[in-house]
Amino acid sequence: PAPDEATLLERLHSVFGFRAFRGVQQQVLDRVLSGQSTLAVMPTGAGKSLTYQLPATMVDGTCVVISPLIALMHDQLRSAEANGIRAATLTSADENRAETVARLRAGELDLLYVAPERASQSHFRELLGQCRIALFAIDEAHCVSEWGHDFRPDYRLLRPLMELFPGVPRLALTATADAHTRSDILAQLGIPEEGMIVAGFDRPNIRYVIGAREGLTQQLRRLLAANPGPGIIYAPTRAATERLAEALSDGKREVRAYHAGLPPEVRAANQSAFVASEDMVMCATVAFGMGIDKPDVRFVAHAGLPKSIEAYYQETGRAGRDGDPASAHLFWGADDFARARMRVQEVDEARQQGERARLSALGALVETAGCRRAILLRHFGESPPETCGNCDNCLEPPKSVDATVTAQKYLSA
Ligand code: ADP
Ligand code: MG
Repeated sequence: PAPDEATLLERLHSVFGFRAFRGVQQQVLDRVLSGQSTLAVMPTGAGKSLTYQLPATMVDGTCVVISPLIALMHDQLRSAEANGIRAATLTSADENRAETVARLRAGELDLLYVAPERASQSHFRELLGQCRIALFAIDEAHCVSEWGHDFRPDYRLLRPLMELFPGVPRLALTATADAHTRSDILAQLGIPEEGMIVAGFDRPNIRYVIGAREGLTQQLRRLLAANPGPGIIYAPTRAATERLAEALSDGKREVRAYHAGLPPEVRAANQSAFVASEDMVMCATVAFGMGIDKPDVRFVAHAGLPKSIEAYYQETGRAGRDGDPASAHLFWGADDFARARMRVQEVDEARQQGERARLSALGALVETAGCRRAILLRHFGESPPETCGNCDNCLEPPKSVDATVTAQKYLSA
């Protein structure tokens, strides 16, 4: 049985220094600590890590965490260690692998972070077999589904591994799963349907604004002038991030570029400057933002169509984590849809249907004359009111648009 509330709260405070659980955290912990496999669908910033980190400090044995990116693992490791949690990563990049294995065998690790491809290695399976494993936590669990927006075949190796440990509960975590992806995650990871816990997705302090991309640079200049706080502008290509950074620099406010093509030390410097800054603007590819914990980002702009509603929600969700007013701006053009349709034709037959569904959901979001938030929330299975009062269309209803014309042209051909 799970520990009682007082014990959990005491533990929350002594390990993390927090006074209360947020949202569905406690519900998730209750299941995990009573040994039940669970899928937690919680928005970005809702505090998913805590739902396995806290149990890891309370149970006898190690919690194995599957994470898709080494950079994410290292961020998590640092923050776990800062809270006094005994944690390590086991990746090919680590030089202290022998030490980690020894600590694991000796039962001295609360958390072990690994990449999904480890799961297929027989010596890794054997190693885990020699240890006491208390929990499997699968971060970014949507990667297991072809319906998800970021399918990673290696995630399919996890179930056979976990099946070697039949009594060990599984905790799958994701921020970004529509109904179809969720049921796929349950099936792929062997989690019972009643084990799904979905948190509310609404971010009431974020204002959604979506419009045409004409005169992008001018529009962004106005946006920056109206928004003195820190902001992120997502651009579709590396070159575009640099172009925008240059075009928007006015000699007063720092505007920098961030993308995977920059030298690691430049990237690291730009990122930490951004985290520390109160007014910097980062022109970035979507690689920027994952694993960055900056609560006071005041705006996020997209200078082109995001990949999916899930991606849009996740990327805009980096704004206003402190709960203060923030805004999300999307600038799009019909050519975005034309290009996206061409890309759909290039993917495997099996994935085309999913990709097409993703694109038409985006079409509905950008072209609606109604409430943007209502569309977003319905996408995540909620039943929101017709109007939210905090998106462009609710604040200033469009006079008369024929919203169907471009959608039909680009989506149904
Ligand atoms: P997610 O993985 O869901 O995006 P994280 O686990 O990275 O979110 O947590 C986001 C932030 O919220 C972190 O800074 C974390 O310390 C903080 N946090 C998590 N749970 C709580 C809580 N109960 N009270 C206060 N802050 C919390
Ligand atoms: Mg996370």
